[in-house]
Order: sequence, then structure tokens, then C-alpha cells
Amino acid sequence: MRSTSSWMVASECDAPRFFTSSASRKGGSAVAPVADLSQVKLAMLRQLDATLRQNYHQTLIEVLNELRMRSVVSQPDPSPDKVFSVILQTHVLTYKPTPSVLRLREALERMTCGKFGLCVRCGREITIETLLGDPTVSYCSLCLGRAYG
Ligand SMILES: [Zn+2]
Repeated sequence: MRSTSSWMVASECDAPRFFTSSASRKGGSAVAPVADLSQVKLAMLRQLDATLRQNYHQTLIEVLNELRMRSVVSQPDPSPDKVFSVILQTHVLTYKPTPSVLRLREALERMTCGKFGLCVRCGREITIETLLGDPTVSYCSLCLGRAYG
């Protein structure tokens, strides 16, 4: 039995439209089954986790580098105040999500709102081939061509 509601999330957003509308329009010969969306979501969440882990690791390395450059860690007993002042000065811990993290979060947000697969600019459906290649794509090919052409 095919579940059509496993990927639907109750929210105040529009009803989910991705895959269901194109499937009904094409007389049920869906290009991709509805259940695929939960797989796409899972893959994006995994990628988000991996990217965040990598970013935090990189941030820790940068903190250590800053402290080393400013000779704080080479001091026999660096005071917490000294360490903290370097961290504040260098803004090395300032939270700034990377573009890939932002794209993943936005795609997951669109999925929650039922707007996944729809162009954020014109509302047209983005082709399934495009989404399978990169689920974080947010523009249809027409709008993408307009933006970069
Ligand atoms: Zn568009």
C-alpha cells in the first residue's frame, strides 16, 4: 500500500502539492512516487548534519589558530579572560551559516510548507530531474535563466 501522507507535515502553510499535483495531471503515471519525498528529506537532513558538524569542526580549528597566532595558548597559563577577549576580538565564533546550510534549511522549510518543488519566484513546478539532481534548487529553469542569463 502506498502512503501519500507520510511526508505531509501539519502546518499553517499551504497544503503540500509536490508530486501529487503532477501525478494527477499526468493520469497517475507519476514520474516519481510520492514516497520518494521522505527519502529526499532524509538525505537533506543527513547532509545538513554532516555540513554542520564539518563547519563546527572548522570553527574550532580557526579558534585554536587565532589563539596560537596571538600567542595565547603558548602562555603557560592563559587566563580565561585573555582567551575570551581574543575570541571576541576576532569574531571567530560569530555564527554565520554557510550558503550550503542556508540552502538545505530553506529546502527543508519549503518541504514543511508544502512548497517544495515549486519555484520561489513564479510558483511553477521545478522538474523532478532537476530536484533529484539537487533538491535545494529553488528556481525553475525559466527564472534561473532570467537571473543568470
Ligand atoms: Zn520560476
